[in-house]
Amino acid sequence: MTLEIERLRRETPGCREVIHFNNAGASLMPEPVVNAIISHLRREAEIGGYEAAAESFETIEGVYDSIASLIGCTRDEIAVVENATRAWDMAFYSIPFRSGDTILTSECEYASNFIAYLQVCKRTGATVRVIPADEYGAISVEALKDAMDESVKLISLTHVPTNGGLVNPAAEVGRVARDAGVLFLLDACQSMGQIPIDVREIDCHMLSATGRKYLRGPRGTGFLYVRKDILPRLEPPFLDLHAATWSGPDRFAVRADARRFENWETNYATKIGLGVAIEYATALGLERIWERIGRLADDLRSRLALLPGVTVRDLGVIRCGIVSFSVEGKKPEDIKKRLDQARINVSVSPMRYTLLDMERRGLSAGVVRASVHYYNTEEEIGRFTYELERIICL
Ligand SMILES: *Cc1c(COP(=O)(O)O)cnc(C)c1O
Repeated sequence: MTLEIERLRRETPGCREVIHFNNAGASLMPEPVVNAIISHLRREAEIGGYEAAAESFETIEGVYDSIASLIGCTRDEIAVVENATRAWDMAFYSIPFRSGDTILTSECEYASNFIAYLQVCKRTGATVRVIPADEYGAISVEALKDAMDESVKLISLTHVPTNGGLVNPAAEVGRVARDAGVLFLLDACQSMGQIPIDVREIDCHMLSATGRKYLRGPRGTGFLYVRKDILPRLEPPFLDLHAATWSGPDRFAVRADARRFENWETNYATKIGLGVAIEYATALGLERIWERIGRLADDLRSRLALLPGVTVRDLGVIRCGIVSFSVEGKKPEDIKKRLDQARINVSVSPMRYTLLDMERRGLSAGVVRASVHYYNTEEEIGRFTYELERIICL
């Protein structure tokens, strides 16, 4: 273990308590993030909530700059909201779908997104079409190209699915969207913080992300990117006095920037914490983070493959920090419970979260999800596989 990893673990109180392989659920926050949140809450208690926000005005505004430099856009293209789902919804429900429009998506789509497609299709008469996976399990860019026609209004893609290590070719999909002149919405919830992301390179119009997963921010934080040139075309489904101005008794004017997708009241403490988490990641460097996560996850996959009855379920050629597997004759929930007892955190991905993909692969029982971060170690992976082998064999 390098000196730097030792320092990063020292700065992560949770590393002294548990082996945390649930980073795709919520990562362990580093101390500077926790401290920033608690200090702000304390100031709210001491001097008042409005007054504390005014005192930290520059820090709070700086969160937009931190996000903008993380993903390569400008600060007026960012909305900070309460989670990634709401960020995604605000973009998706702003798109004026009509009868006959087509939404193209992938097999690994997240349940919340797919439920929204179904609701909008029911309301408007649009249709959703699922692009099949290629031989490796990623969205087939060839099939996507073939599916492009006049009716396509939106390509909506999940970058990294919730249930496995697959990384979809976002930039290639972005090229197809650009060539066809259709909107491209990217759900980057699981990729943000583990994979370097540049929205100009990917060429998406909209992107949603969460704070609590690989970014190591607090729960209940998320953000939305919307490219400047399409902002005027997207009227948010909800407006308030922050997103718009009541400019006359019978008039209102929607804000010009991406904050039209926000609402007025917010959790300033966690917003500040999100900013600190992003600065923390940026200081380490996303390229280095991605390189280490990839190495640890590959190590975990190859060790799992040696265990009796274990099948690694990750798809794709490029694989990220999410490692999914099943154990013959054992329920994922039972594996999770037994690992809990050994103070090892994993989670279970049930079929209904990514219904199409899991059904296609016959994974109705769900899978165990062990998601690693850069602060995890080879020793922890060793402990994990040792405990798992005991669970399997005893
Ligand atoms: C976790 C997740 C979400 C939802 O994020 P929230 O912050 O809980 O709203 C959306 N999409 C994917 C792919 C996810 O894994």
